[in-house]
Formats: sequence, structure tokens, C-alpha cells
Amino acid sequence: MSANTSEVAAGVAGLLSNVRIVLVNTTHTGNIGAAARAMKNMGLSRLTLVAPKQQPDAEAYARSSRADEILDQAMIVDDLEAAIADCQLVIGTSARQRNLCWPLITPRQMADEAAKASMAQPDAQIALVFGREDRGLTNEELALCHFHVNIPTDESFSSLNVAAAVQVLVYELRVKWLELQDATLPDWQDEWDVDWADAAGVERFYQHLEQVLTDLDFYDPENPRNLMQRLRRLYQRARLDQTELNILRGILTATEKAADLKAKRPKS
Ligand code: SAH
Repeated sequence: MSANTSEVAAGVAGLLSNVRIVLVNTTHTGNIGAAARAMKNMGLSRLTLVAPKQQPDAEAYARSSRADEILDQAMIVDDLEAAIADCQLVIGTSARQRNLCWPLITPRQMADEAAKASMAQPDAQIALVFGREDRGLTNEELALCHFHVNIPTDESFSSLNVAAAVQVLVYELRVKWLELQDATLPDWQDEWDVDWADAAGVERFYQHLEQVLTDLDFYDPENPRNLMQRLRRLYQRARLDQTELNILRGILTATEKAADLKAKRPKS
């Protein structure tokens, strides 16, 4: 989809409203409230809570100051996959480098990526994902993201309070949004011709890929050796669009057919 000038303007306008803040397994409801306050300060409104230890309570409302409606309207879901299923751009946060490194960006670059996505596809859904207070995000959760953003800190003390981390990122989004009000629109056009794939479609592809590779005896689930993680990283780095996803699914189906794999599979 090649965005025309009015679509680009819609993307600028929609940048803040297209971004959802996703808090995973938050323990302290006060942090949920403080995150809602940070969001409202910067003009964001969409909060998704993945299996919070406790639903927003009086403490959350007190810490939200007057961002009550964000808490009232927060979506509550069971897992991260459900929180991001309709998203085309998923950005995770991490206080530290993990085993398998992933495209790592700064908060400012995060705002650039969100703006590019929103202007190329004005209805693009974007998720910023924040982890547990004690353990952050799991490697599996981080593997669902296109980018990881790290807030640069003193190396000896790198972990911010989760609501403080939300504040830093939504501030950068607001700065970008303000800059874009003055931007010359054509500079921001992204010439991509197809919509980005959403996370649910990409996840179905990964399941299909794993099944075919297992059937082909290329992948041994008993001895995974990070293979699926590495393949996920490869495809997440490519940021699949809808046509590319359809082609990859078609190749898998043709592979299954050629190898008559479906017939060999035990009925489940
Ligand atoms: N001990 C955990 C840190 C959890 S802090 C760990 O090592 O991962 C809780 C959450 O705040 C993190 O999951 C992340 O979402 C956010 N956060 C804290 N510090 C951050 C930083 N420096 N950069 C990016 N996100 C950070």
C-alpha cells in the first residue's frame, strides 16, 4: 500500500491512538495506575493487561491520578499472543541483553519505527510490550517482537521501574508526534505496496513451519537447539508483509503435498 498525502496525514494523527501499551503479568497494581497516568500525560489511551496478578484496584486508581478511563477501558487478556494478535508492529522492551540477540533500538528509534508504520499504513496497530517487575519478558515473549528497545542507563543499574519505562517510551512517541505536525508530508511516505502481516497470521506460519520441518525430520522437538527461535528471529527481522506471508504458507503447503507429509502424520 502506497500511502497518499491524506493517508499520511491520517497516519500522523493516528500515531498516538494506534499504539497500545501492553503490560505483562504486572504484580503491583500501583504500577498499572502509574503507567496509565504516564500514557494519559502523553496522549495515549489504549492499555492491555496480560494476566495481571491483580485487576486494577483502589491503589491503581490512586496512582493513575485522573487517568481513570484508561484503567476502566483496559483490555485484559490471558497471554501476549492474544494482546498482539491484530498488530503489525510489535516492540518489546528489555533492560538487558539476552542470549539470542535481536534487532535492538533506542527509544527514539522506536518512535521513528512507530511513525513509519503508522504513516505507511494509517490503521496499523502497534504494541509496546513491557515485562514483569521481577523478571522482565521471557525469551519466548521477546521472540514475538520485531524490535527490542533498551532505555540506555548506567550499566551497573539498568532496570527501571516498569511505569517509569512506560513514561520514557510514551514521551518519545509524543515528541515524534509533535515533530510530525510540522513535517513535510511527502518525506514521510513509505512506498511499501502491501499491508504488513499481523502477529496472529505470522504465528500460524511459525506453527506450520515447525510442523513441516518436524515431518521432514529437519527439526527435532526433543533436541531443539534454538532452531525455531533462530527462524523466528530471521522472519521477525524481515517484517513480513501479507503477500510474503501467503507465499511462505503456499511453499509449506506445496512441500507437504510433494512429500505427502500429511498422509504420514498420525491423526490427532
Ligand atoms: N529484572 C528484569 C527487569 C524488569 S524491569 C530484567 O532483567 O529483565 C520491568 C520492565 O520495565 C521490563 O520488563 C521492561 O519492560 C521495563 N524496563 C526496565 N528497565 C528498562 C530498560 N533499561 N530498557 C527498557 N525497558 C526497561
